[in-house]
Amino acid sequence: MNADGHASAGFGISRRPHIVILGGGFAGLACARELGGEPVRVTLVDRNNYHLFVPLLYQVATAALSPADIAQPIRRILRRHDNIEVVLGEAVGVDPRSRRLSLADGSSLHFDRLVIATGSQYNYFAHPEWEALAPGLRSIEDARLLRSRILRGFELAEREADPTRRAELMTIVIVGAGPTGVEMAGAIAELAHYTLARDFRHIDPGAVRILLVEAGKQILTSFPEELSAYARRRLEAIGVEVMLGQALESIDDDTLVIAGQKLRASTIIWAAGIKASPVASWLRAECDRSGRVRVAGDFSVPGHPDIHVLGDSAALDDPETSQPLPALAQVAQQQGRHLGQSLAREYTGRPSLPPFRFHDRGNTAIIGRNAAISISASAA
Ligand SMILES: Cc1cc2nc3c(=O)[nH]c(=O)nc-3n(C[C@H](O)[C@H](O)[C@H](O)COP(=O)(O)OP(=O)(O)OC[C@H]3O[C@@H](n4cnc5c(N)ncnc54)[C@H](O)[C@@H]3O)c2cc1C
Repeated sequence: MNADGHASAGFGISRRPHIVILGGGFAGLACARELGGEPVRVTLVDRNNYHLFVPLLYQVATAALSPADIAQPIRRILRRHDNIEVVLGEAVGVDPRSRRLSLADGSSLHFDRLVIATGSQYNYFAHPEWEALAPGLRSIEDARLLRSRILRGFELAEREADPTRRAELMTIVIVGAGPTGVEMAGAIAELAHYTLARDFRHIDPGAVRILLVEAGKQILTSFPEELSAYARRRLEAIGVEVMLGQALESIDDDTLVIAGQKLRASTIIWAAGIKASPVASWLRAECDRSGRVRVAGDFSVPGHPDIHVLGDSAALDDPETSQPLPALAQVAQQQGRHLGQSLAREYTGRPSLPPFRFHDRGNTAIIGRNAAISISASAA
């Protein structure tokens, strides 16, 4: 074990520059892969020992996939690279002056370069107390919790004699009609209409009430209006009630007030807006409204040339559109790849890469089992 509390990855390797990558998600993992076999020592730190394929979490929450289908051990993904170590740990802060990353167990890691790719979390705006009542979908634990709430609602309804209470137990509310809310609504409708259709004796799971509540005037605002309208029609065809321009006013246990109307639900799901992980406060760095750290073109944090931030935690404008790059897996992955290649070139004295440019591969939202909308890269 070395002074940093972990084994060094091979003889002589400890004298190489040490790059610490925090986060084994889309950005961090892509960066690490590019540094495999390069003359640097890499330590990838994550609070989980697996890489999570977040876009399919809604399928775990609706019992279509099991957690193991969307989680891959980070060690296995990186095992062929002798210069990369994986450390299980929760980061709690960074000291840029002493170049140390602090972990929750009290230990710390010294770095020559730090790459932070800790992603994002749901934003409950002024209502942090809603988080326990209306969980979002960001982790395997969230997906398991939502799956158990959804299925428990049906189980309790099966044993409920009072029709009003039974209907409440078969009501599911999704707050926010972006891609996650829409995909979740479609998947719950399919679960109720097909997967569970013949499993109960006293209730018809198909009678479930699924409400998709959106404060804006359109669902899926990142898609053109006609595709968004098509998605809405498809959702309604499979039994989802789409409530546009309706603001959620309160949540109290299982009771919500939406645009002045009170209703009770067995499951409330939050899919309304994200904020970055707390990197900006660790670094006292400038951030945008979502808490994303404003980074330079090489993803470095102004004033801290040895610290880079990537993916959902970083705010960077697309030079072509002057719009902020969206919080998407493909953005995170491309940034990770670019930074990994840039660092590899820097440490081997090869010419540097041209500045990062995002190559849009298009965007898709799945609506139930038989429909999807997709926007191609050229149209995006
Ligand atoms: C439900 C859902 C569906 C989505 N669907 C799509 C989609 O269809 N297409 C698409 O392009 N994008 C989609 N996205 C967005 C996409 O998942 C993110 O943009 C992407 O995951 C960002 O990558 P990242 O590397 O920045 O962060 P992440 O992939 O979230 O990785 C962050 C990593 O950091 C680790 N971490 C965080 N904090 C700490 C800490 N303090 N200490 C140690 N480790 C830490 C986490 O465990 C995680 O492994 C979806 C997001 C959600 C929530």
